[in-house]
Amino acid sequence: MNSSSLDPENWEDFRASSHRALDLLIDFLQKIRERKAWEEPPKKVRAQFQAPLPREGRDFSDLIDVFFEHMAPYAQGNLHPLFMGWVNGAGTPIGAVAELLAAGLNTNCGGRHHIGLEVEKQITLWMAEAFDFPRDSSGVFVTGTSMANFLAVLIARYRAGGLALKTQGLHQSVHRFVAYTSQDAHSSIARAMDAAGLGRESLRLMATDSQGAMHLDHLRARVAQDRQAGCVPFLLVGTAGSVERGAVDPLRELAHFAQQEDLWFHVDGAFGAWAYLSTKLKPLLTGLERADSLAFDFHKWAQVPYDAGFLLVRDARCHYETFATQDPYLKRESRGLAQGEVWPHDLGIDLSRGFRALKTWFTFQAYGRDRLVATFENMCLHAQALAHLIESSSFFELRSPVVLNILCFGFKKPLLMFDERALVLTLQEEGYVIPSLTLLEGRPVIRCAFVNHRTTSQDIPTIMDYLEKAYLRLEQQEPFI
Ligand SMILES: *Cc1c(COP(=O)(O)O)cnc(C)c1O
Repeated sequence: MNSSSLDPENWEDFRASSHRALDLLIDFLQKIRERKAWEEPPKKVRAQFQAPLPREGRDFSDLIDVFFEHMAPYAQGNLHPLFMGWVNGAGTPIGAVAELLAAGLNTNCGGRHHIGLEVEKQITLWMAEAFDFPRDSSGVFVTGTSMANFLAVLIARYRAGGLALKTQGLHQSVHRFVAYTSQDAHSSIARAMDAAGLGRESLRLMATDSQGAMHLDHLRARVAQDRQAGCVPFLLVGTAGSVERGAVDPLRELAHFAQQEDLWFHVDGAFGAWAYLSTKLKPLLTGLERADSLAFDFHKWAQVPYDAGFLLVRDARCHYETFATQDPYLKRESRGLAQGEVWPHDLGIDLSRGFRALKTWFTFQAYGRDRLVATFENMCLHAQALAHLIESSSFFELRSPVVLNILCFGFKKPLLMFDERALVLTLQEEGYVIPSLTLLEGRPVIRCAFVNHRTTSQDIPTIMDYLEKAYLRLEQQEPFI
């Protein structure tokens, strides 16, 4: 072979194999309910992925067989309607095909003058509209809310420390910059403080009430105390839907306080921000529209396939200045492919980036806002329905009130040999119904997060049935006393 091209030698063979792959994928998605949610990848299957680097190519069609025999059956399980672990979106078949189309174009959405950037700008406009931000807000796709939170910390840091801090770093600064969030906030905020060189201890974790919402009194007192000690408060992070239990901070009060104290107000709305689009749920999130920046994911509640996180920033100039660079080879021109003022790579750390906007555009276009909102509302109804069954069960009790789509519960009376962990791990091993675990007040709790558009109200009694049967099996193994 003298050509170095990697295109198919025979396009007709390639076409046939590709159509077969797509058909197999559609079959897999269509019949997802007929499978277990999770199956542990057997040792023999895992061993296949410890092979040496291949020197010669293999037949494409064989590789498709390997995928459907040895990968697809052992995937994570979040496609399945009875998967409620962590906070994982299910994706959609349309999103999957859109991702294929994006890969086909293989555009680099870091910059330049092409349609990928126009689609991304469209999403920014939609998000500004959805969350009542000004039309000239800026926005950028990132991997997920963890990265969006990190960018937000950097923007807030830039606003507080200016160019001097950006160029000379913190060791030239006499200020001790401090930030505030609740103890229910996602760990990515502490990691962002660390990665931004500010240090985890500079993030003050405020106590929360019984619903998981930040105590304002504590916040007020702590900011005053820090100011007295000579620290410089610069950032307040509110949570709209905490990962543990879906708790929502008093966002309106936080927005007001941040304004009074001249703090950057960032909201982590990874999944919960979407509740703002529902007229029923919106009152819970009043104040979110006043944030300086808002981080959220398309890949959780909004069902866009992984990965697709987003950061929306009210002050586009500040966003741009935080990251802008002066590389000569990336200089903008008034004509040709290097046109444009702000490119996405000016709004974050990544230079090369994929066309995440496409699968997001397809998802919003194909389903429309109303249909997506109905799924968010349904997920909250599922959580309430399961909470209802838990409350009337003789084996379980709620450990935290249900605010959005997540419920945390535990055993009503403790077993001698087994705790909630044993129940969850057993259920996961069986693979039919997948909850996960967390700790509340130091105790393990069973956690069910409704994030999957495939879950129906008929699934709720089924889930309860699995939970109760698993409990009874554990109880039977207990010693007699
Ligand atoms: C999931 C989640 C994150 C992290 O988002 P990723 O997309 O996984 O990076 C941050 N905050 C909250 C509240 C979350 O639920």
